[in-house]
Amino acid sequence: MTLTYQAEVCRIRDLTHDVRELELALHEPSRLSFKAGQFISFEVPKAGLPQPVVRPYSIASPPSIGDRVTLVFNLVQGGPGSQYLYGLRTGDAVRFKGPAGSFYLREDSNRRMLCVATGTGIAPLWSMIVSELERQSSQPVTLFWGLRYERDLYYREELDGLASRFPRFSFVTCLSQPGPDWTGVRGRVTELVRDRVTSVRDLSVYLCGNGAMIKDVTALIQAKGLCPIYREKYY
Ligand SMILES: Cc1cc2nc3c(=O)[nH]c(=O)nc-3n(C[C@H](O)[C@H](O)[C@H](O)COP(=O)(O)OP(=O)(O)OC[C@H]3O[C@@H](n4cnc5c(N)ncnc54)[C@H](O)[C@@H]3O)c2cc1C
Repeated sequence: MTLTYQAEVCRIRDLTHDVRELELALHEPSRLSFKAGQFISFEVPKAGLPQPVVRPYSIASPPSIGDRVTLVFNLVQGGPGSQYLYGLRTGDAVRFKGPAGSFYLREDSNRRMLCVATGTGIAPLWSMIVSELERQSSQPVTLFWGLRYERDLYYREELDGLASRFPRFSFVTCLSQPGPDWTGVRGRVTELVRDRVTSVRDLSVYLCGNGAMIKDVTALIQAKGLCPIYREKYY
């Protein structure tokens, strides 16, 4: 059920030069019940408009943490939503509506899970991956995450930590425009999907990020066969 929540900014962490993580402690109601992958919405003022505009942000934390929510977002120059979030300081009061959205983890499924993200599209997938790994299952969970440059990298320790704690989890972070010293995977997530997904049998695919990636990966997966594809397009 969608409700209005009052919360307080309790932690701010800069993940890169233009990506920030924000933790909100809920006050009223004091707990949020949601499905991994869903989002909350803020009404923010926009210069030149009498009415506020609404901007949705995915919950990056798992539903098992009910009294706080974590958001991950990047700064969009001149964008009212991201500038509002970037302007918040520890202790500030915020109001949001939620939860909402049909992009959420299908927990009943006994399928292998493939998550593909670009940029801050990692946010709902992080919630889903952590939730899925909390579940008793032996199904593999794979993440392909595309960023641009080395300076855009974050969550490296967290991803390594998950992969060492949960052998069924693996991930590849690829950079589309790395420098000459980058020894990791180069290119786009679409190439990873094209080259590394050999079968879609018993597979569920979750895609989040920019529209071009979602369109291209959907076509690549569909060319390999039929399986459920769940998608959240940010822009
Ligand atoms: C369901 C849903 C969940 C979302 N969750 C998140 C989230 O968890 N984290 C997050 O960072 N964003 C998320 N977004 C995008 C977010 O709602 C805003 O669109 C984004 O923050 C830009 O809003 P703005 O008001 O700052 O800029 P606007 O003025 O609205 O946007 C300006 C332009 O910036 C581009 N843009 C939009 N989003 C991004 C982006 N993330 N990166 C680069 N360019 C962008 C678009 O081309 C857009 O036209 C989500 C979007 C949807 C639909």
